[in-house]
This record gives sequence, structure tokens and C-alpha cells, in this order.
Amino acid sequence: MDVEVAKMDFKPSSFLFSFRKEINSNDVLVLYSSIKLKKLYFLNDNIPNVQKILNGDFSSNQNLVDLLYDNGLIVEKSITASNEINEVKKSLLNNPEIEVAYILPVTACNFSCKYCFVEGNKNYFSDSMDINLIPSVLEFIFNNFKSSKRLESKLVTYGGEPLLRKDLVFKIIEEAKRREKEINKKLNKLIISNGTNIDGEVCKYFSSNDIKVAISLDGPKHLNDINRVTKKGSGTFDIAMKAITNLKKFKVPLTISSTITESNVDQLPEITSWIIKNVEPLAIGYNILIGHGYNESLANKTSKSLIKSFEISRLNGVYEDTMMRKLEAFVSEEPYFFNCAATGGQLVVDPKGRVGLCHGFYNNSDFFPLDIFSSTEEIKNNKVFLEWSKRTPFNMEECYPCEAIGICGGGCPYNVYLERGDIWGLDKFNCIHVKDALEWMIWDLYKIMEPRLLKENVVEI
Ligand code: SF4
Ligand code: SF4
Repeated sequence: MDVEVAKMDFKPSSFLFSFRKEINSNDVLVLYSSIKLKKLYFLNDNIPNVQKILNGDFSSNQNLVDLLYDNGLIVEKSITASNEINEVKKSLLNNPEIEVAYILPVTACNFSCKYCFVEGNKNYFSDSMDINLIPSVLEFIFNNFKSSKRLESKLVTYGGEPLLRKDLVFKIIEEAKRREKEINKKLNKLIISNGTNIDGEVCKYFSSNDIKVAISLDGPKHLNDINRVTKKGSGTFDIAMKAITNLKKFKVPLTISSTITESNVDQLPEITSWIIKNVEPLAIGYNILIGHGYNESLANKTSKSLIKSFEISRLNGVYEDTMMRKLEAFVSEEPYFFNCAATGGQLVVDPKGRVGLCHGFYNNSDFFPLDIFSSTEEIKNNKVFLEWSKRTPFNMEECYPCEAIGICGGGCPYNVYLERGDIWGLDKFNCIHVKDALEWMIWDLYKIMEPRLLKENVVEI
């Protein structure tokens, strides 16, 4: 930078945020760029020097001015907030590029979980796919994988409970295997199940076909069985655990999906420890409640519990999806534009072969606008797919003043739609957690960097 020429022509970036705290008798100041995810840590005597610069004295400390400029924390006076955000948005894909395909072979379920957004949804009815349709479904999906710019593909079989029809699941796997080589990129194959019908035969088949399985389980029996019940009202813990035992016996890669509700939110850290000890999954994913309206107290409790649970997972080397994806963005300094694959990266095929973007909208033709006989171009040019592919906080002015924009991804558009009839608002439940998560990351990183910071007084990360 030619600071001599432009010395006085700076201002703090519109996306500069500061965090300050006393830790172990040290005054710590963190400057953070919410869109570039750059962070500088300052200690004690260095802080007044930084403050001078932020107050407009750009001639006081050349090295510090350079450091702030190079990290995007101060910018030339002529640069507007739009200039700054547009620069970051250059790496943003603004059109559908399919990475994840869901197949719903069966929409019926033998469970009646009390929080399920399908239960009580008048649009949902039990249906199952004609087995003869499956080759065309896979042809359609693989054409979309092939024409996508994404580097990996993921095929998810979901429901209802897909394993109510093992024949359909096996046929999907067989067709996927047959076509796998066509796409020339890594293909992940996942089945999401409540554990029903996962016997030795099924596990053997999964194991020899490189299938990963996610089992829904909300913790130990007394907590799981509060909400996860059969149609007759009895607990489902034993069904899930039997499946887990079988999957482990056949070494099928296993993850756990748990839903957070009022009944288990306070025990979430204990649930995490219990799952790690008793299930030994590769990863845990927590589902924040969808379609139940906004509840601020639950949102706050969920956020705190998620952070504590993440600390436990990290300590035990188990991947925890909800926090980890944000943390990866924070560490890599690559903005996390979308946290829901349906925003441009996902399609869903229902039992009739209709194609939509989110399973929550099953049987709603506005959001299932195409079918498996549509071309890849029709997906890329469809107005609903196009609109969703732009839904990131980086395209929402309401999010520009938010310190967490770079790690957010925007939450669940379906949830927002249920509340306001379009997808362009804030998912308030998500907002609470993302902001808490950012604050936690800032100070967690300080703990890691403290010895270096005590030596150097300024640390650039
Ligand atoms: S959605 Fe909420 S948390 Fe995310 S960037 Fe917008 S305001 Fe911030
Ligand atoms: S919109 Fe919400 S429910 Fe639909 S796929 Fe995305 S996160 Fe899931």
C-alpha cells in the first residue's frame, strides 16, 4: 500500500466490529471484519494506539495502519459499504448448482414424533414411489450432478421412513451404483432413518455398498421416548438402539441426528456425552425445531446448549455439524454464504417424481414446480430455484449491520416462509445462535492464542 500518498484517506470498514474483555487481568481488544472474517487481537498498552487510528489519526503508527488496512479493517474513504460487500460477493454462486439430491421413496412413517413438522401438515399424505420410476429418477439426478459446478455430490434417501420399503431403497442404491462412474466426482450416499427394519441383511447390504446411515435419536431412553413415539404412543428408543447395534456390527458409518425441544434442551450437553459414549457415532447433527413458531426463551437455551455440546464433541473428536460449519468459515476466513443446501444446491424428488427444493414443501406445487423429466436447464432457469439460490444474508440488507454475517448462512428459509409467506426475512431462532456462536469463537480463539499474544501483544489471525 502506498500509505505516504493516501495516509489521511482512510476510515474504519463498514463491517468492522470490536469485542473487548478483561481476561486473566489483561485488557483484550479484538477487531473483526464480519465479511472477510479477519481478526486482530490486541493486548493492554497496544489498545490506545489502535483506538487513535480508529478515531481518525492515521499518521500515528504506520505499521499498525498497514496491518489494519491489509486485513480490511480500515479502507480508503471513497469505498462504500456496497463496494466492500460486492467485492466479497464475487465468489458467490447466484444460480442453482446441484450438490445434494433427496429422494423420498416413501412419505409414510410408522412413528408419530410429537415435534415432526409432517404430523398435522394437511399437505402430507402417505405415498410410495413406483419401483419402475426409480431408474428415471436416478437418471435425472445424475444428469444434474454431472452438469453441476460443485465438486462433490450427495444422494440422500429420506422419507417418511424410507426403510418401510426396503425394495425401493435397494433399487435406489443399485441404480446409484450403476451410474456412479458417470459423474467423475465423489458421491456420498446417505440414508436417514428412524431405525425401522435395519436388520443384519440391510446392514450387510449397506456395508458392501458404501452407504452411510443417519439415525434419529434424542438421547437416552427417558429423554428420547418423550417425543419420539410410535403411532400407538409407545417409545421408540429400543428400535433405534437395535438398529445402531446392527449398524456398528457391520461397520456401517453412522451419524446421529437429534432434535432439540423444550423437553431436552437443558440436558443437551449430557445427551451429547451419552451419545458419544453409548453410540460412538462419527458425527452428531442437531436439528433446531422447524415449523413451530418462534420461541425466544427456547432459542436462547438452545443456543447455549449447542455451544456446550460442541465443546464436549470437540473434546471427544466427534464432528458436530451445527457449530462446526460456522467454525470452519471462521477459521478458513471463507464466508459461509448458505447453510441450507436448498438455497441453490439441492433438489428433492417426491414419490410421484415431482421435483422441488425442500421436503418441507412436499405436495405444494409452488415449491415442487418441476418433475424428473425436466431438463437440467429447466432447473437452472426455474424462477423458484433461482430465487432460493440468491437467499443468503449477503443479499439481505437487513443482515449487513450484523457482526455474524460471515458465519451465518441465513438459517432455514422454510421456517421463515411459514412465518411471513416469503423467504426473505430473518430466521430469528438461527440469529440468536449464530451471534452467540461468533462471540464464543472470538474468545475461544483468544484462549488458544493467549500465550503468543502475551509475548507479541498483537496477533494477526
Ligand atoms: S440472518 Fe440473523 S444472524 Fe444471520 S446475518 Fe442476518 S441478522 Fe445476522
Ligand atoms: S429450507 Fe429448512 S427445512 Fe428446507 S431443507 Fe433448508 S433447512 Fe431444511
